[in-house]
Amino acid sequence: MCIFCKIAKGEIESFVVYEDDRVIAFLDIRPLSKGHTLIIPKEHYENLLEIPAELAKDLANAIKIVCEKLKRLGAEGFNIITNVNEVAGQEIMHAHIHVIPRYSGEESKPISFGNPIECDLEEVHKALKD
Ligand code: AMP
Ligand code: ZN
Repeated sequence: MCIFCKIAKGEIESFVVYEDDRVIAFLDIRPLSKGHTLIIPKEHYENLLEIPAELAKDLANAIKIVCEKLKRLGAEGFNIITNVNEVAGQEIMHAHIHVIPRYSGEESKPISFGNPIECDLEEVHKALKD
């Protein structure tokens, strides 16, 4: 079973930000900004392109909910990104959408993968979990 399937089943701990029957959202362990969240379908699909349309709607709904929550941290904008296939930087082959909050005062250039920030995930989770 893949690591994100294990997270979806609660077999690996994560900082859950949002959950419903079909979707779970949790903090990325190597955040690119404070509150960087991953949204995944609970069922295993390899990437976003494999996901049926109905489930894609559930993911879109979760994106909105998660973005609203991230505004609590002061987020004023978001990069909403999905990497499809290794050639595009996908490392975990379970479909996921990165929601990366952006804050004023930062450079507003596109976010770059591979430069995680130092961040206390427990503290961020406290602000987002309810
Ligand atoms: P991608 O490169 O699009 O496949 O992104 C995978 C993301 O999953 C990376 O940003 C990792 O930091 C993140 N990640 C890997 N393992 C975990 C985990 N156990 N909990 C939370 N995020 C994870
Ligand atoms: Zn999986």
